Amino acid sequence: PETITIQELANRMSERAVDVIKFLMKQGQMHKITDVIDADTAQLVAEELGHTVKRVAESDVEEGLFDTPDTDENLSARPPVVTIMGHVDHGKTSLLDAIRKTNVVSGEAGGITQHIGAYQVTSPLGGKITFIDTPGHAAFTAMRARGAKVTDIVVLVVAADDGVMPQTVEAITHAQAAGVPLIVAINKVDKPDANPQRVRTELLQHSIVVESMGGETLEFEVSAKTGQGLDDLLEGLQLQAEILDLKANPERSAEGTVIEAKLDRGRGPVATVLVQRGTLRTGDIVVAGAEWGRVRALINDLGANVKEAGPSVPVEVLGFNGTPEAGDRVAVVESEARAREITEYRARQKRERATARMGSAGRTLVDMMR
Ligand code: GDP
Ligand code: MG
Repeated sequence: PETITIQELANRMSERAVDVIKFLMKQGQMHKITDVIDADTAQLVAEELGHTVKRVAESDVEEGLFDTPDTDENLSARPPVVTIMGHVDHGKTSLLDAIRKTNVVSGEAGGITQHIGAYQVTSPLGGKITFIDTPGHAAFTAMRARGAKVTDIVVLVVAADDGVMPQTVEAITHAQAAGVPLIVAINKVDKPDANPQRVRTELLQHSIVVESMGGETLEFEVSAKTGQGLDDLLEGLQLQAEILDLKANPERSAEGTVIEAKLDRGRGPVATVLVQRGTLRTGDIVVAGAEWGRVRALINDLGANVKEAGPSVPVEVLGFNGTPEAGDRVAVVESEARAREITEYRARQKRERATARMGSAGRTLVDMMR
């Protein structure tokens, strides 16, 4: 059921909370400022205090913002979005760096690579692959907890000289819980004490059966240090993506997820957004969580300004009025008024949840009347 705190109700009416409490007291209800009352009671109070009530349900505000993918027409293939997971020191960061380097054509844009939280490369087979450049289970679970599904494929990195370790198992658990397919990268095979076969055997104990052992999970021996096997890994990712038959409609208004966001001193709020459906363009009005803005500039992973970004493309978005949070879902809306309605509603909800958490720790009626 819909509820509201007395404080919030008072705020919205621009009345004093104490007057709301007094009114409720006359009705025989004792409340303190942080108490939550139901929508009917709130409406009664508001009308009694001379206000017109317009009840807005979550469904009204959020409706139509995110269509189900099934209703999409004009589907076309989109690149896979890949997250690298694995035990600490097994080479996640090194692999991300090595993959990116092999793909940056020397001399291109001065070879400038910019960290924006995600990047796109081209596999030797010609297909594009998007990597989320923030390895780690925390990011993965945080996004999932917020309802954002961004990863299509997990690359599980296991160091050949160390084998399956606790965070390897954790990564397997996360990927399975999310229903995301795994590809195994047996890393550090350049090391003298590397033992890839042991990794394969250990994975068996966690019901990961790799191809060379008769299973379905693709595995690649790689070295982030020498670059060995990286092309094979990229090809494998493209093949896996083709099996998954990943599609999106580029012809609709954009939807996506915030991968990273920060407040930049010169540029203001900067959000790295992974576009998941539709095409994001400069000039679009976007909402992300409780923030909105008009897209002033889009900057790709090479630091270049672009006019638009389609499905699976990560871009920095400039123009937000506030800094959204990683994991916030992004949608383009038709007007500033609509953007305000949605974000004001969400901001209120956020405040109410925070106040409700404060609960009994809040001020009492007695405090209010002092
Ligand atoms: P992360 O914690 O999983 O991100 O691991 P890092 O990428 O930080 O790598 C941990 C250490 O392993 C660093 O000292 C890397 O230089 C080293 N390392 C990573 N990949 C390789 C590799 O393929 N071969 C060798 N010899 N060392 C590697
Ligand atoms: Mg790292």
